[in-house]
Amino acid sequence: MAAETDRFVKTGSDYKASLRDGRVVWYSGERIGDVTTHPATAGGVQWLADLHDLQHDAEHRDTATYVRPDGERVSRTWQIPRTPDDLRARRELTELTSRRTLGFFGRQLDNIAFTMIGLAAYEHLFRRSNPELADNILRYIRHAEEKNIVLAGLIADPQGARAKEKWSLGERVAVDGHGDIERLPPLLRVVERRDDGIVIAGAKIVGTVLPQAQEMIIITQPFVAPEESFWCALPANADGVHIVLRQAVSRPEPTREHPLASRGEEMDCLIIFDNVFVPIERVFSLGDPALPLEYGDIGAGEHWHTLIRMTVKAELLVALTQMIIDALGTTKVAKVRELAADVILYAQGLRAFTTAAENSAIVTESGVAWPGVDFVTAGRVFGIEQYGRIIEAVRELAGQGPLMLFSDADFRQPELGPLLTQVVEGFDMVSEAKNALMGLVWDITSDGYGMRMDYFERLNGYPKFFLKERLFGEYDRVAGVEWLAEFLGLPVDQVAEPARRLAARRKPMLG
Ligand SMILES: Cc1cc2nc3c(=O)[nH]c(=O)nc-3n(C[C@H](O)[C@H](O)[C@H](O)COP(=O)(O)OP(=O)(O)OC[C@H]3O[C@@H](n4cnc5c(N)ncnc54)[C@H](O)[C@@H]3O)c2cc1C
Repeated sequence: MAAETDRFVKTGSDYKASLRDGRVVWYSGERIGDVTTHPATAGGVQWLADLHDLQHDAEHRDTATYVRPDGERVSRTWQIPRTPDDLRARRELTELTSRRTLGFFGRQLDNIAFTMIGLAAYEHLFRRSNPELADNILRYIRHAEEKNIVLAGLIADPQGARAKEKWSLGERVAVDGHGDIERLPPLLRVVERRDDGIVIAGAKIVGTVLPQAQEMIIITQPFVAPEESFWCALPANADGVHIVLRQAVSRPEPTREHPLASRGEEMDCLIIFDNVFVPIERVFSLGDPALPLEYGDIGAGEHWHTLIRMTVKAELLVALTQMIIDALGTTKVAKVRELAADVILYAQGLRAFTTAAENSAIVTESGVAWPGVDFVTAGRVFGIEQYGRIIEAVRELAGQGPLMLFSDADFRQPELGPLLTQVVEGFDMVSEAKNALMGLVWDITSDGYGMRMDYFERLNGYPKFFLKERLFGEYDRVAGVEWLAEFLGLPVDQVAEPARRLAARRKPMLG
């Protein structure tokens, strides 16, 4: 075996330098020169930079990286799991990164990378559909591994894309100050096919973390026309890509009374593709609108990542709940203990789904160890349905505490500070510590920062109704129906036929 090197494992400062690449990013009507320093994006960049540095930290190096058979140490973010041990190692990586970000950074380094690895897990489907493009999948993963790429995922379409029927190719439109220009399609599509690639035009939306990532994977939706259907990857700074940020929810200055909201955020955005060229070696599928119907299986890794992160976050909420109760001295109230037990139940439920998905892993036809999709989907629905209730429980347990926050400046004021310290003293915690604790509760339950996270948990990677639709399509109940039919003395084959048809289909029925 060749001598080990770690030349492909990037540091936080390598990562930051790579973001100064001329990308076009807009915020509040102005072009951002450097996303590593702009207040809307810098905090999130720093969080990701810290995760890069973990890869070089002696204590965490073997969790965050692995050594390839050729002796190259690379980020585990891009490891294709081939065995149950590989899956376990990926879970440990996600637990580590989730702890570092308190579970409040959905698109950590290893999240959308897992989406891309899903293409490798189901490479056989891509090969059947576009044999000439299938080799691009493993080639891209090797590229991303050696560049230690942070990847964003673009699946959702702007809600205005529903107006696509009103649009036609070559249509021109008058825009104030720009005269007569060719109108971009409402739904992202291929506008030109060339031997060396495709040209795409239109838009995608939300694309969390793209402003803070180097590259994006684009996945189109099912039930569209062939020219609206493609899977590809491209850099954030590709010519013609405009990244338009939503308004920031984090606070640019670090403050003790907003310990989370002042750490920075993963940024969401609208992405406009103004006739962007994608080289053919970055295209994974072209013209196959049925392929996205397989996303339940292909995306199971990414969704398992989300489950692991939500589990870690739920365990943080259990600890937070305990600290609130201790600070307020409310342990003796039975209703308080019941609410706290609800939070524990939530954490335990998520942990059980996460573990069950790992224990029911399969090896796909393409030879990738892949979490059991039934438990992944059910766990995601459980996590989404309970999240709002659990956040409400945390808010309830904290009473007026999170609202009545005082700034560091108040505590430092020579006349006021000592008085404040005496009157806002917690039961088991003194003033400023209680202030920081309740500040965290505010950030999580009541601040714009917490509300954005609430949106994220409910909607990222498809809303609840769609996941339930998927569960209905994915869960195999043939054996159960056969068992009951037999017990009731009914003709087994006839009674089980609809369930068998569903099981063979294994796809959401939504149109
Ligand atoms: C914080 C955040 C981060 C996100 N990050 C990403 C990301 O990184 N990448 C990405 O691709 N996407 C991302 N998304 C987008 C997410 O995938 C979509 O929000 C989600 O798929 C729902 O689509 P929509 O918001 O366009 O809602 P719409 O499709 O416009 O639907 C609006 C509402 O109508 C109802 N509805 C619509 N259709 C149906 C139906 N067929 N049956 C029943 N009810 C229906 C639902 O209640 C739905 O919430 C993110 C979203 C949020 C909020």
